[in-house]
Amino acid sequence: MTDMQYKVIVGLEIHVQLNTQSKLFCPCRLEFGAEPNSRTCPVCLGLPGSLPVINKKAVEYAALVGVALNCQIAQFTKWDRKSYYYPDLPKNYQISQYDLPLASGGFIEIPISNGKLKKVGITRAHLEEDAGKNLHSSANLTQVDLNRAGTPLLEIVTDPDMNSPQEVKTLAVELQQIVRYLGVSKADMQKGHMRFEPNVNLIVTKAGSQYKTPITEIKNLNSFRALEKSIDYEIKRQLDDFVRTGRVMKSGNKSTRGWDDVNETTVLQREKEEAHDYRYFPDPDLVPLRFTNAKLDEIRSCLCELPMAKKLRYIREYNLNEYDAGVLTTDRKTAEFYEQVLTYPKVDPKRACTVLTQEWMKLANKRRCRVYELGLTPKHLADESRMIDVGDITSTAAESVITTIVESGDAENKLFEKVAIDKNMLSKSDEGELEKLVDEALENNPQAVADVKSGGKKSKKARGFLMGQVMQKTKGSANPKVVSELLARKLR
Ligand code: ZN
Ligand code: MN
Repeated sequence: MTDMQYKVIVGLEIHVQLNTQSKLFCPCRLEFGAEPNSRTCPVCLGLPGSLPVINKKAVEYAALVGVALNCQIAQFTKWDRKSYYYPDLPKNYQISQYDLPLASGGFIEIPISNGKLKKVGITRAHLEEDAGKNLHSSANLTQVDLNRAGTPLLEIVTDPDMNSPQEVKTLAVELQQIVRYLGVSKADMQKGHMRFEPNVNLIVTKAGSQYKTPITEIKNLNSFRALEKSIDYEIKRQLDDFVRTGRVMKSGNKSTRGWDDVNETTVLQREKEEAHDYRYFPDPDLVPLRFTNAKLDEIRSCLCELPMAKKLRYIREYNLNEYDAGVLTTDRKTAEFYEQVLTYPKVDPKRACTVLTQEWMKLANKRRCRVYELGLTPKHLADESRMIDVGDITSTAAESVITTIVESGDAENKLFEKVAIDKNMLSKSDEGELEKLVDEALENNPQAVADVKSGGKKSKKARGFLMGQVMQKTKGSANPKVVSELLARKLR
């Protein structure tokens, strides 16, 4: 084993459910959890004589994702039938796109270690319809629910450019953020809005020669955890298989495996069918699509700043650390709320970030909502940040003021400063009063005073301790800036 090295190679297929009102080729509504087979019509039931009509919105959404992923959008794209004989798609074929996908040749940049970005190629992205669901409700009975049949899916295929389970997960998470930013999918994993199928193999170097292990495709993963874990497992399994059997990649020995979530293993499903097994051919019921330049321009104009670019800009322009910038840009509405706050004068971006990500998000979590759903406005955050910064209020007091405002149920009409005054929460800045307390603290703690004056190692800690004594006496309502200045003057 010692003279053996290996490199992991992963490409990813992702199915993203588009957030349209109706299905891809019929007017049936998309509704999760509706009564089985209640959202169906002759088209999605596959009844003879019914004719599909393309959902314009789905095409626009797909093209928008294509643009966001730096793809070429095809001037001419068509629809193909993919033979598919399962009960969950009764017309026995799936309408998909074969040789002329809507988008191709793009890339996505993902963050890797030490702040660098890695480019992962996007082979293609095409539209297709989802199948229904087989419900195995009792031991020997299978029922079919066709509510999902005909749901628009965007299938995105990456180049095999990823080299670790972590990179794959990073890409998947970023893609989830992108489609949410663009508003084209809710990307709710629990509802199966994103399904992953990684293609995994290894390049093993042994005694100076290189060997490629057979590719396996892991089917239908619907959580980031399963995605990462299954690739992890597959790497170990393939390495072990290579050592035991020496099996290498040949044409036709690609296989598909399923993920067993309970035992955390992959399980062989079948040797892969080739494309010709699907008997693709152009769908005679659907006209090909042509994008005019004007249409493409219109789609491009819907593009927004993407999460990764936003995050990097926050780090650069607002001097935030990577973690905070990531938290703020996780969803578009939070990011936009934060940007609104910064349009107010004299707001320190770092202070606003701290208040938002620590105090406000804690409040939102308690209420099981997002920060922008607390009823608070960007002005609240601007006022709070500014007042904390100039020392008019302590963070602790500010938190209590904001909580009061949220609990009032009428946040919109409550001014931060007014509530702070009404609650008597403004910091005590009366120097005379504070000086007395400072003197008291110095008198009662001669050791700390000596430590500060010695200027040694303990000096900083002792100063903090004295500060704490004064703050405690005022129950946190003293203006920390004033106290700190008083201490500095008296301990010179
Ligand atoms: Zn229908
Ligand atoms: Mn597919």
